[in-house]
Amino acid sequence: MIVVEQEPATSLGGQAFWSLGGLFLVDSPEQRRLGIRDSHELAWRDWLGSAGFDRAEDAWPRRWAEAYVEFAAGEKRAWLHGMGVRFFPVVGWAERGGALATGHGNSVPRFHVTWGTGPGVLEPFVRRVHDAVARGLVSLRFRHRVSVLTVTGGAVSGVEGERLAPSDVERGVASSRDVVDAFALRAPVVIVTSGGIGGDHDLVRASWPARLGAPPARMLSGVPAHVDGRMLGVAAAAGARVVNGDRMWHYTEGIENWAPVWRRHGIRILPGPSSLWLDARGRRLPPPLFPGFDTLATLEHIARSGHDHSWFVLTQAIIRKEFALSGSEQNPDLTGRSIRKTLSRVLPGAPPPVEAFKQRGVDFIVERSLDVLVGRMNALAGDDLLNVPSIRREIEARDDQLANGFAKDAQITAIHGARRYAGDRLIRVARPHRLLDPKHGPLIAVRLSVLTRKTLGGLETDLSARVLGADGTPVPGLFAAGEAAGFGGGGMHGYRSLEGTFLGGCLFSGRIAGRAAAGRT
Ligand SMILES: Cc1cc2nc3c(=O)[nH]c(=O)nc-3n(C[C@H](O)[C@H](O)[C@H](O)COP(=O)(O)OP(=O)(O)OC[C@H]3O[C@@H](n4cnc5c(N)ncnc54)[C@H](O)[C@@H]3O)c2cc1C
Repeated sequence: MIVVEQEPATSLGGQAFWSLGGLFLVDSPEQRRLGIRDSHELAWRDWLGSAGFDRAEDAWPRRWAEAYVEFAAGEKRAWLHGMGVRFFPVVGWAERGGALATGHGNSVPRFHVTWGTGPGVLEPFVRRVHDAVARGLVSLRFRHRVSVLTVTGGAVSGVEGERLAPSDVERGVASSRDVVDAFALRAPVVIVTSGGIGGDHDLVRASWPARLGAPPARMLSGVPAHVDGRMLGVAAAAGARVVNGDRMWHYTEGIENWAPVWRRHGIRILPGPSSLWLDARGRRLPPPLFPGFDTLATLEHIARSGHDHSWFVLTQAIIRKEFALSGSEQNPDLTGRSIRKTLSRVLPGAPPPVEAFKQRGVDFIVERSLDVLVGRMNALAGDDLLNVPSIRREIEARDDQLANGFAKDAQITAIHGARRYAGDRLIRVARPHRLLDPKHGPLIAVRLSVLTRKTLGGLETDLSARVLGADGTPVPGLFAAGEAAGFGGGGMHGYRSLEGTFLGGCLFSGRIAGRAAAGRT
């Protein structure tokens, strides 16, 4: 087997290295230990409520989704565990939904963070690849960029492209595209695993659907430049069908990385539910658009606001308990598998990476007085859209809802509800308090930008990962897996994700593609 990769060897592992290693598992021992009752049926209902499959192109994605949820509720954990993968014991509750039981979101916490984060997920696979290289079974060709899938007699028979100039850039840093030579390789089977389009903002904008409003003028990149989407066009030129290209999963809680690795490098805040979320004009986002509830609906709301940013307003007490940052490099305790540092998550004080952003990130403002805070928010946005009296009125009304242990305000009710889950109470959801109570201060405002990340559509594949052509029959010799295949079928998430489903979708579809292709050679 030959692995053809445009980046240098330092980037082996692609996006997974940068990931938090969060995996969607159903009815796991970790969930049961926390008293969470989950089941395959519940997860499938949640998946359907989130995916919203509604078009002819959803036929294969829906079948992939069914197979994937079964995998997540069955073999997935044991398979990974058998390879040495372990999980952080507190299961996270991502995409809480917040609407009806049949709608979007996880009914229960299912986000299992891998001990060692993304690099921990990669480890057993990288080890096996290096082993296979040593045994002469696999050859790695870095700095080889595929530009053509060779077609002979109607079947894909190899790849052609350019050899790029050697590059010693560090992992994730954009490498040069200087061409030194051409190459061509013949193979009876080709598997495309080239990732999504999130690194190319022009492609993201071109794919942006009208139903989400206008694409933001300014976006951050949550993926390295190599996530360029080029290969989707290359596969299409060989007869592959790309479906559901208008479905994407971009985050609304992006902040500029103060120590960027790639251009426009943004980090996603994984928020707990307590921050007050305001649009660019200072209006509170409507229910259920609370932090961590419904990514796509929030994205639509912000895109339709006519502005490309929104705001979190919170307190020191909230940031220290509720702010987590996505990505392996922002979680050195988990990535480095340090029990001592990880245990400090239950202690008072924000984790060091969050504190570093608070002090050095351009998007963070920390002030004791609301008047000064709002003045600085306007200065950061470069306008005067925010008005102190109306923001004060909004916050005071919210704060007054805390007089009882129950409330009319849906966000306050959601916070009370979340704290009934032990994992949230322990490390994720701050004790409800008045935002204007100086005891919990200082006040913090965070400017949030849209952060490009995942591509939900892709190459249409059948359940053996064979790529399908325009007439719905397989393109001979061509398989696809991972984000390039919409994580299976050309979009197994439909419109929305339950989170932690991307890495798992890559593992699942990659395993199927590998086995099917091996059976063909
Ligand atoms: C910061 C971050 C956090 C994340 N956290 C999570 C998480 O917690 N849970 C989760 O489920 N998912 C997470 N994800 C998403 C997940 O990591 C990705 O969806 C997944 O790793 C994609 O893997 P892939 O192999 O399909 O594509 P990629 O990792 O993008 O790899 C594709 C490879 O193909 C190469 N390539 C592309 N085109 C060509 C060409 N023409 N010729 C040669 N080579 C080419 C690229 O250089 C790249 O190395 C996260 C992603 C990021 C960036």
